Amino acid sequence: MIKTKNPKKPSLKEALFFEKGTIVKKWGGKIPVCIVFPNTYYTGMSNLATHMLYKILNSIPEVVCERCFIEESGEVYSLESRRPLKFFEIIFFTISYELDYVNIPRILLNSSIPVISGERKETDPLLIAGGICVMANPEPIHDFFDLFLMGDIEATALPFMEIYSEVRENKRDSILEELSSSGWVYNPRHLDVVYNKGGVVESFIPPDYTVTINRYKGKELGTSSIVTSKTEFSNMLLVEGTRGCPSQCPFCLLGNTYHFVYDRMRGLNTNITDIGIIGGGVSFHPELYKIIKELKGVGINVHLPSLRVDKIPLSVIELIKDEVKTLTFGIEAGTERLRRFVGKPLEDKEIFEKIEAILDIKPFNLKLYFMIGLYGEERSDIESIPELVKHIKHIMIKKGAKKGFVGSITVHASPFVPKASTPFQWLPMDDMENMKDKISRLKKEFGKIDNTYFTHESIKFSFIQGIFARGDRRVGTVITKLNSGESFQKVFRESPVNLNFYVLRKRDKGELFPWDFIGGKNNKDRLYKKFINALSYIKSPGPNADSS
Ligand code: SF4
Repeated sequence: MIKTKNPKKPSLKEALFFEKGTIVKKWGGKIPVCIVFPNTYYTGMSNLATHMLYKILNSIPEVVCERCFIEESGEVYSLESRRPLKFFEIIFFTISYELDYVNIPRILLNSSIPVISGERKETDPLLIAGGICVMANPEPIHDFFDLFLMGDIEATALPFMEIYSEVRENKRDSILEELSSSGWVYNPRHLDVVYNKGGVVESFIPPDYTVTINRYKGKELGTSSIVTSKTEFSNMLLVEGTRGCPSQCPFCLLGNTYHFVYDRMRGLNTNITDIGIIGGGVSFHPELYKIIKELKGVGINVHLPSLRVDKIPLSVIELIKDEVKTLTFGIEAGTERLRRFVGKPLEDKEIFEKIEAILDIKPFNLKLYFMIGLYGEERSDIESIPELVKHIKHIMIKKGAKKGFVGSITVHASPFVPKASTPFQWLPMDDMENMKDKISRLKKEFGKIDNTYFTHESIKFSFIQGIFARGDRRVGTVITKLNSGESFQKVFRESPVNLNFYVLRKRDKGELFPWDFIGGKNNKDRLYKKFINALSYIKSPGPNADSS
């Protein structure tokens, strides 16, 4: 299993004990469905999609919906009734992270469900997948699933189940055909792909095959249905303050997948004392101050996710200062030139002034996110990261000295992974050796700055993520081999398609991408315009540029 994020895993028996809000229904006569999050309980229950799908499916009186996560022992059972997955009629996988693909074949094998959809029998459950990765590019995992739901949970789950309850007595093939009659359900058996000699998609059969994204048009967004101490957001009620993000940074999958909407959070009725308002665009929420003030007024502590340093109002930071020790900002790049390129056009001066004003409120710890390996990145861009952080450190010391406390800085670097269905889908990833070199230079520099910690994503896993994010149908074999325990080096060596093909190539404007059947041509034209616009910011090299 590829371990992602925090690997703290309570035993699942223990997990249920700590939950408030578990829904346990009797099975008799109901349609049993199971949500599978292909990672640990800790990670899966920190993901709002799991909660929302659980709540929506269980709101259907004829349905009993349970959950399933990866257990240390490798056993695969539903959490609520400890039944194997084979006992359910439908299994919904919710997928929000490409590296979790590797866990899918393992879950199916350990459940005695054929991994390849075409090999499933009448009695096997239907395997359905949804989530942000699926909406961007489901092709690497097309073989594992019978159908994909393309769209928001609120817009797809209920209509899908309505059709299913009408046709569930039919034969499996007929059920799948009926279910794929909606334009937002992708049935991979309805599409063939032809590759040219160079390995690029030459054509789709039928050529005009399209799936649409079914968007939720309502105003109320998601909330968690279960509160537990065994997640990243311990004992917090999670509320989706925003979906999508108006910034639409060209590298960001979230910003380019969902339309920006915000929840006014009227009538939030809870006896929970801590609320986590989540969403990539929270800093842009026009009523954030008002909402937090009201929540604080009734004694609720509010926690916020990673923020846009330039957009988050100081008045909001003032409101949450008592319960929040660390603020997280995505700065992304060390130089203004590269920040403009990635859609965060912040000047150094702007960052320093805002952080100074924030530290005037309280000497917070800071967590700062950066990307490395960006297209057009020069040695000076990497060198600017510790320089920028050193300057912030000076501000911290200056401000903290007066208050008798100087916070720490954690710098987290992630390799840039170009994602399908974003403006940066045409770009190559940096190669692993370059990125290793950049990471070791950063490590060395940050080792010299007091009270500053440097962490980074694994280069190898980011590279694999890059393969999955823009992979085609041939990547399914890579996933199966990695799942069976073969080393990445062996899989890389023996792959019939050179895996660098997926990550290191710059794509031509006209290249047909494996995921181009999603969303239609207008969508691709729109992304290309944004790509060209972003490129215009890095045409002239920055000062002191030399090649890294
Ligand atoms: S500001 Fe953050 S969440 Fe919004 S588009 Fe940019 S990277 Fe994505």
